[in-house]
Amino acid sequence: MIPVAEPDLRGNELKYVTECVTTEWVSSLGKYVGAFEERMAEICGRRYAISVSNGTTALHLALVVLGIGPGDEVIVPTLTFVATANAASYNGATPVFADSEPGYWQIDPAQLEGLITERTKAIMPVDLYGHPADMGAILAIARAHNLYVIEDAAEAHGAMYRGKPCGSMGDMSCFSFYGNKVITTGEGGMILTDNEEWYERARMLRDHAMSPTERYYHPEIGFNYRMTNIQAALGLAQLERLDEFVAAKRRNAELYAKGLKGVPGITLAPEAEWAQNCYWMYSILVDEPYPLSRNELMAALRARGVDSRPFFRAIHTMPCHPRDIQLPVAEHLAATGINLPSSVKLTEEQIAYICQQIRELAKERAA
Ligand SMILES: *Cc1c(COP(=O)(O)O)cnc(C)c1O
Repeated sequence: MIPVAEPDLRGNELKYVTECVTTEWVSSLGKYVGAFEERMAEICGRRYAISVSNGTTALHLALVVLGIGPGDEVIVPTLTFVATANAASYNGATPVFADSEPGYWQIDPAQLEGLITERTKAIMPVDLYGHPADMGAILAIARAHNLYVIEDAAEAHGAMYRGKPCGSMGDMSCFSFYGNKVITTGEGGMILTDNEEWYERARMLRDHAMSPTERYYHPEIGFNYRMTNIQAALGLAQLERLDEFVAAKRRNAELYAKGLKGVPGITLAPEAEWAQNCYWMYSILVDEPYPLSRNELMAALRARGVDSRPFFRAIHTMPCHPRDIQLPVAEHLAATGINLPSSVKLTEEQIAYICQQIRELAKERAA
């Protein structure tokens, strides 16, 4: 089976992790944590980076630091991984769901003004599947309404918006390093910011809100959201190969685009003229007149040795965050989208095989 994602750990990962073990620095102290944070800050052009246990805790902690809580509203795209909305709920805030833009599939800036109320505190744009959100438009609206922007760049390591790296633009920006992400630490996350006060506060809250000057004195309730040295060792080795990974994913995208061009009913992964997509997941839409439904195509591909994933469900349609609203663009994307195999290890032959199956299945059904 050709997998949708798999980590590539063939660089210095084993060497750095082995060093953690042989030196016995396996917990959250040790040189790799600081080195990994420094390198992430450098890549994203930010002053400060705070590593955490995963991408969800990164989002949660960012909201805590900004003081967002009960009674507050946070605007999130409905088409994202559920963690974006959950992070707001953990603090007692209410996620307010925005529709997608049909051309490039990200949160639609044109919808935002209509969702802002006097309770709105923040917008959390997501760079879905590796394509940046329209950060310029979103930041302008946020500034005009005095809102924070928390960038959920969990899927967008190495992607760019008008030449700026994803993760460089929000008041706070968050990454995930889950096993299927562009860069992995197994589980892991990171917050980036240029604000020293937020940085200090995030560091303290990450470590049970222990006073930096008095050990075991806790002025408030904090969290254990620390990353381990072993995770950071993996992450540092992964970052050494970020450019290589993004180049491989962009090559995958080119090969898919060539192989699937002109198939009726198949919409290729977009790239807005202001965007550099990192193609975390190479994604297509399957719609009429393609003769198989999205789910039929996924099942048929699986029978031919090709794994795939459906797009995320629109969050407002699920029991975890039910809303009696319709967000038609996101709902349509969610119903028709597929993530195709997107690993950096894919060969040209494998991508050609996958494209050929998608073409042949259409012909067979039509015949
Ligand atoms: C993966 C992901 C997260 C959460 O990251 P974890 O490390 O799995 O907690 C948050 N937001 C988006 C958009 C993601 O894709």
